Amino acid sequence: MSSTYQISLKDEAATLRFGAQLAHATFADPLDIQGEIKESIGTPTLGGIIYLHGDLGAGKTTLSRGFMRGYGYLGAVKSPTYTIVEPYEFEHCNIYHFDLYRLIDPEEVEYLGADDYFHESNLCLIEWAEKGSKVAPAADLKIELESEGTGRLLKCQSLTEKGAIIAKRLWP
Ligand code: ADP
Ligand code: MG
Repeated sequence: MSSTYQISLKDEAATLRFGAQLAHATFADPLDIQGEIKESIGTPTLGGIIYLHGDLGAGKTTLSRGFMRGYGYLGAVKSPTYTIVEPYEFEHCNIYHFDLYRLIDPEEVEYLGADDYFHESNLCLIEWAEKGSKVAPAADLKIELESEGTGRLLKCQSLTEKGAIIAKRLWP
């Protein structure tokens, strides 16, 4: 089961906006989309593994920033380039943002506590998953960003039932 969808993102604001829409599509209850999202609290999540592919500067971290805004997190969303993972642990959900670009030894992720991060109730955004293919779980959703004029073209592929639920909410 695999379906592909796409959307043009003409500027940074569009990437941030799509990130927030993607976040809303991962809420446990779609009715939460209409509800009030409490600042810095987060909302119950479906969980899932989302790979973010694309060259350096493609917009993976920008999309992740929009995603965290979608969960009501208004603090800084830093690139996990050096830390490998940035955790966002809320009362109602855990979100982990990975950048595996600088991962040298896949065991590094084990040391960081992979089993805790990759629990199925958590939501993981993973940049450069291809560098951590030995440790990163299979993706529910793969997102690919590429240049399109001065903007970006985003392609989204759902690979599991959970991925299909998320994609269907974005492309009904
Ligand atoms: P990555 O994490 O993929 O390396 P970043 O998100 O850190 O990329 O950087 C992406 C750069 O591209 C930022 O300067 C951002 O402002 C810009 N950008 C993001 N989305 C778009 C878009 N849709 N169109 C044009 N520029 C964008
Ligand atoms: Mg990045």
